[in-house]
Amino acid sequence: MRTDSGKVLIVTGAARGIGAAVARLAARDGYRVVVNYSASRQAAETLAGEIGAAGGSAVALAGDVAKEADVLRLFAETDKRFGRLDGLVNNAGITRDALLVKVKDGEVIGKMSLAQWQAVIDVNLTGVFLCAREAAERMIRRGNGGVIVNISSISRAGNLGQTNYSAAKAGVVAMTVAWGKELARYHIRVGAVAPGFIRTPMVAAMKPEALAKVTAPVPLGRLGEPEEIAAAVDFIFRNEFFTGRCLELDGGLRL
Ligand code: NAP
Repeated sequence: MRTDSGKVLIVTGAARGIGAAVARLAARDGYRVVVNYSASRQAAETLAGEIGAAGGSAVALAGDVAKEADVLRLFAETDKRFGRLDGLVNNAGITRDALLVKVKDGEVIGKMSLAQWQAVIDVNLTGVFLCAREAAERMIRRGNGGVIVNISSISRAGNLGQTNYSAAKAGVVAMTVAWGKELARYHIRVGAVAPGFIRTPMVAAMKPEALAKVTAPVPLGRLGEPEEIAAAVDFIFRNEFFTGRCLELDGGLRL
């Protein structure tokens, strides 16, 4: 990401996992980083403090990306503090896994609820739309361009038990392509990264047998590290011929 001009980057859901790795790398490269969080205030403030102690610049700012009023406040607060915006990494995401219809012994015993569907669509798809819209508006008004990176997932291909998550993550890549076309004229580049299984709290929450099942078919035979995803985000920021496309970092696994 390397910058020496006090550029400003918002990373959504940056309190832990992939978002935290992106925030750390960007701060090391000279970005002033907004560490966004919705529930994990303490973790976000601790990360911002660590970045500051290491000689970087970061501030923790609240905002649920699924709520338009929160997103408007997050971006207005960033305007107030820094007066510019150069990058956005749409990283915030949740899972609410369930089979579309669950059957046991020939009996239907469950269905994915509308609440499970909607929660994931709200955060993982609408949240990306809202934040990118606000970022693009500011970058266009200022006239200096910028970079937006959306975190998709290997599950965008369609994963069992993840109707909601797969739909959202496929949508994220479609929006990336559309915005790549729409925003190039304003010198705004848009990219996506589709990670496979990465060693973060989201994956650590899986049952051990489920985790063993997902890593077994990975050709490289391991989970990815958050820093490896941050490096892909960094590549998109630095490569000025990259827009409207998705980088896949999945150890060779294809769902
Ligand atoms: P994680 O450890 O669970 O972190 C997710 C982050 O999102 C948390 O910091 C959480 O913070 C934040 N968040 C959740 N809902 C939010 C909301 N409404 N508004 C703002 N922030 C919100 O997950 P991760 O594994 O690092 O995942 C990061 C991204 O990578 C996600 O988009 C995920 O879908 C994607 N991904 C992960 C993997 C993987 O294997 N880990 C694979 C493919 C894709 P709060 O606690 O503050 O809400």
